Amino acid sequence: MDAFPPPCPPMTALSFEFYPPKTDEQRAQLDRTAEKLKGYGPEYVSCTFGAGGSTLSYTSETVRHLNQQHGFSAAPHLSCVGGSREEIRELLKLYRAIGCKRIVALRGDLPSGMGHPGDLRYASELIAFIRAEHGDTFHIEVGAYPETHPQSDDALSDLKYFKAKVDAGADGAITQYFYNPDAYFHFVDAARKLGVGIPIVPGIMPISNYSQLKRFSEACGAEIPRWIAKRMQAYGDDVDSIREFGADVVANLCERLIAGGAPSLHFYTLNLAKPTQAVLSRLGR
Ligand code: FAD
Repeated sequence: MDAFPPPCPPMTALSFEFYPPKTDEQRAQLDRTAEKLKGYGPEYVSCTFGAGGSTLSYTSETVRHLNQQHGFSAAPHLSCVGGSREEIRELLKLYRAIGCKRIVALRGDLPSGMGHPGDLRYASELIAFIRAEHGDTFHIEVGAYPETHPQSDDALSDLKYFKAKVDAGADGAITQYFYNPDAYFHFVDAARKLGVGIPIVPGIMPISNYSQLKRFSEACGAEIPRWIAKRMQAYGDDVDSIREFGADVVANLCERLIAGGAPSLHFYTLNLAKPTQAVLSRLGR
């Protein structure tokens, strides 16, 4: 027997998030990525959804494709903002008909310029709606924000609204990505103190492109620690060094999360296999 267990035990469950491709080139890329990530035996994969209906059918088509072509158990993301109860009802019927067992239920964000907020204001209302219409048919995942949702006035009310999603019927949560594990551990502790018992799975964003990461992080309120930002800036156009450093940082984050009790890891793949594989190989997978 090894003196030290491998850093990421083989039993640590994984899930991978994809976005729905819109062009033939993107579709081919998703297929290549799905083939490469299949071997890790993910518990499920998920497919994002564009609020306001722009990628409405892309999501369901992609979910169907991931199930049928790649044999995954694919979970659609479903956001309520900008949608009517009737539109959401139809989508739920479709997802049930194509055999989806899990849904990632979100409020979503309206694209700028889109006026109507929709019939359901918050994710908690969407979850209550799904439960009312379909009982326990779907396993419902929700979003969680260890560094606080960017539109939230304060961390405590954000936590209270997170608990409201659990009280409405969420089975599990996936966090926004972060690079400071303490933010996750504090969030989980605070949620447990409020009586939240569901698994809270850290969302992991591999690092491969600094300017893209900076843009995403500004939009979603994720903090890039100064020491990481400074190192990335120093690498400039040296893409290989950014990738190596990024994979080391994220693998170390994952090790600490697993050691601290994270139930599984959810990777934001951005439809690329390599950055996720670079992290997983450092974890002994
Ligand atoms: P909610 O939980 O409804 O919270 C939104 C805001 O409202 C928070 O600030 C909260 O504190 C506040 N709030 C909640 N309830 C109340 C209340 N009763 N009264 C007052 N304030 C309240 N976006 C997409 O468009 N498509 C995707 O596919 C997608 N996938 C995601 C996957 C994950 C794992 C995560 C973490 C996020 C994802 N997002 C996606 C982004 C998400 O839609 C945005 O962060 C959105 O702004 C919030 O969604 P939510 O479900 O967390 O909202």
